[in-house]
Amino acid sequence: MKWQGRERSSNVEDRRSQGGGGLGGSRGGFGMPGGGMRIPTGRAGGGLGLVGIVVVVGIMLLLGMNPLDMLTGGGSTTTTSSQQYAPPPSSAGQDELADFVGVVVKDTETLWTEVFQQNNLSYVPPKVVLFTDATQSACGVAQSASGPFYCPNDKKVYIDLSFYDQLRRQFGAPGDFAQAYVIAHEIGHAVQDQTGVLPEFNRARATMSQEEQNAYSVRVELQADCYAGVWANYVKQQNYLEQGDVEEAINAANAIGDDTLTRGQVSERNFTHGTSAQRMASLKKGMDSGDVGQCTL
Ligand SMILES: [Zn+2]
Repeated sequence: MKWQGRERSSNVEDRRSQGGGGLGGSRGGFGMPGGGMRIPTGRAGGGLGLVGIVVVVGIMLLLGMNPLDMLTGGGSTTTTSSQQYAPPPSSAGQDELADFVGVVVKDTETLWTEVFQQNNLSYVPPKVVLFTDATQSACGVAQSASGPFYCPNDKKVYIDLSFYDQLRRQFGAPGDFAQAYVIAHEIGHAVQDQTGVLPEFNRARATMSQEEQNAYSVRVELQADCYAGVWANYVKQQNYLEQGDVEEAINAANAIGDDTLTRGQVSERNFTHGTSAQRMASLKKGMDSGDVGQCTL
């Protein structure tokens, strides 16, 4: 993707210098069977005020619920308090990655502002928090091992840039457009939060069986993949795509399908994000059409 020298979003919140070493989760846990991959369960949408958010978060913490969207599954959050350590030096590579993320986020803002406007709505761009090791979110402690996620309680996307190493090495999904897809997917959840899809899911799931919740979750996740595809189409229209970009994103969607992550060891009714085939198809649907109307739930 052509991104160098382009405008960056002002909504990137860089917490990397704050460290967080005391919380450092292990990098293991991927491909955790059943229930390990969750999408947001927060209920901060609609008219919930600050008090309401505090109450909801408090209840979630009490119940041990984990509101994280672990795009790639695995891991779990802890609720231990943060210990601050001396900041680890940021490598030049990570700084370049941070710039890249800023450009990707800016592109999502331009796209979604336009799409919302066309529907007489106004898009509120989420903040995107870059962190190292661990940081506090309104959905519990964000850890590297959790993978990137969107927290509806504070309307922020969280990502430890070291995830991209993992995406490349562990999941075999290299390339800047694979990285862009991950961001665009999480931004897709922020869009769902504003269109009412996410609040409705969180309301409805309360009375559902685990299997029904999982099936619903897959639909929500596949819509976010489709939205990521619409974003990719927008980037293509702007002539920012480079040779191999589309393949990189499709390859990443393939790599993080539930069946691939769990190596066929887990029954499909436990899937929460969709199979590799489903994820690739949804991404492609958005990419090929560039039409959010195609991204049905
Ligand atoms: Zn997701």
